[in-house]
Amino acid sequence: MSEARRDAHPLTGRLFGSPVEPETGWPGDPATTDTPVAHSAADVTLLAASPRTLDDLNACITVCRACPRLVEWRESVATTGRRASFADQPYWGRPVASFGDPAAEVLIVGLAPAANGANRTGRMFTGDRSGDWLFAGLFRAGYASQPTAFAAGDGLELAGVRITAPVRCAPPGNKPTTLEKSTCAPWLDRELELTEPRLRSILALGLIGWDAVIRAARRRGWGVPSPKPKFTHGAEAALTTPDGRSIRLVGSYHVSQQNTFTGKLTEAMFDEVLSRL
Ligand code: SF4
Repeated sequence: MSEARRDAHPLTGRLFGSPVEPETGWPGDPATTDTPVAHSAADVTLLAASPRTLDDLNACITVCRACPRLVEWRESVATTGRRASFADQPYWGRPVASFGDPAAEVLIVGLAPAANGANRTGRMFTGDRSGDWLFAGLFRAGYASQPTAFAAGDGLELAGVRITAPVRCAPPGNKPTTLEKSTCAPWLDRELELTEPRLRSILALGLIGWDAVIRAARRRGWGVPSPKPKFTHGAEAALTTPDGRSIRLVGSYHVSQQNTFTGKLTEAMFDEVLSRL
């Protein structure tokens, strides 16, 4: 596949190279050619401390290159490793920004982008079965403007909810390393800091999301119950911000096909945890 190859965005028809360059018109791309790029864990720590808004934070995240293995993987999927059914589509191939309401009272914390889902569409949970399931649930609960998610720019809006992840790049086998998780952690820490004043509850999708929230809460100086609350579907724990506010942490099985196709996670189970946020 030639480096100069460009493909039409499935919604807008505009041509893009893969991975997508900032400021080339991708719907919702928060970065510009001037957005500072993190090349190391130290850079992530430094750059995550500076954004004053969630949009600025998103911009920095989407150009990050701090994890060599993940950069190589996300870009190789975007060029030579595309799923056959998407072979004629441009792939985002960059870290994926948080998506949703900047004034959210509820944060949803997943795991990492899917190689042919968000790594293709550039938007959290968009373009795969997990996202179809998640957004249908958020629509039923009144958080999403439509039950489907097709591509960035499809008109989907979230109200009161923001979706984020502890790892922003698609990992091989959906398994980020411990080092990659810790390198990416400052982005989540800063997001918690910026959302904290309005935050009411956090929904962790799966054990990795649950543990990432607890670790981030501890780093932020929040009170976390001891012993550490255990993850299971429907688990709940009260986290306490430094100013004494209680934030409800709720656990749900991840919305992966592995859980939703097998009936381990049903719509009724998911609707019930959403009702507690
Ligand atoms: S996983 Fe996080 S820290 Fe690593 S390259 Fe992606 S955005 Fe950067």
